[in-house]
Amino acid sequence: MQLQDIQTIGVVGAGQMGAGITLVSAQTGCEVLLQDISAHCLDKALERIQKGYDKQAQEGIISVSEAKAALSRIRTTQSLDEMVESQLILEAVPERLELKAQIFQELGNICKPEVVFASNTSSISITTLGARSGRDALVAGMHFMHPVPVMKLVELIRGLKTSDETLRLLFRLAERMGKIPVESKDSPGFIVNRILMPMINEAIFTLEEGVATAEAIDQAMMHGTNHPMGPLALADRIGLDTVLFIGEILYQDFGIDKYRPCPLLRTYVERGWFGRKSGKGFYAYPSQ
Ligand code: NAD
Repeated sequence: MQLQDIQTIGVVGAGQMGAGITLVSAQTGCEVLLQDISAHCLDKALERIQKGYDKQAQEGIISVSEAKAALSRIRTTQSLDEMVESQLILEAVPERLELKAQIFQELGNICKPEVVFASNTSSISITTLGARSGRDALVAGMHFMHPVPVMKLVELIRGLKTSDETLRLLFRLAERMGKIPVESKDSPGFIVNRILMPMINEAIFTLEEGVATAEAIDQAMMHGTNHPMGPLALADRIGLDTVLFIGEILYQDFGIDKYRPCPLLRTYVERGWFGRKSGKGFYAYPSQ
């Protein structure tokens, strides 16, 4: 499949990542069909996307008519079966192995045999998802960073059986989206999360042990290491549930103690404190 053969991109999962992926996908000129099991999440995603285009138009990144045209290319559905009309699927459902594997299996039955599937997973094995799809040469990881319209990096993950052609297609698509693609092997956490998650986890241990307040930890890392955002604020932005899922995968797959998720993170997630998206994490977000 070539880039010009893609008329419709299917995006599965309309959360914070799915909305961003839809936004940048529609800017490539393709039609985008966004699917989610929740009508509320679809409505919220459309609102976010509209706001994202408005912001780009206000900042002069795109014209008002380009914003309108991109928005008009987006449709939503609650039915996975409608993905049959897509030539490429980008999956962004929650970071749970069995959920993603099940969706890849269903998509394998629904979509035409030449359709390429890419997962936005932060840590789950692409090789496993490929095997469940029944078309492993056509499956890869396409890992966007949050917030998708702003962050330049896209990690492209090659599963054991991913073909060169599949990787090439996704490489070109990422460039068409204005992103910088970087290739990684299918290894737990790939590049970014393997390095980032131990830092966030250590920041949570530092908080748990009472070494410093959340504000002090973030200030120290921002002004001491020139990070634009502290690790705890960043964890809140990623979503503490997602941080815990990734931490568990790193711990389980590498089998070494340095990746053990901090108990305080587990407690927060058990309480439903997921960060920005739930209104409370290491900080409070009253308007979310
Ligand atoms: P999220 O919780 O914001 O959104 C997930 C969406 O998937 C929700 O709208 C939910 O309704 C929907 N969903 C659940 N089950 C579904 C199903 N069976 N079919 C269709 N939709 C379903 O999560 P997110 O932060 O957008 O993360 C999604 C993926 O992106 C995860 O794999 C995560 O690891 C990855 N990711 C997240 C970040 C981040 O910073 N949050 C960054 C990079 C990658």
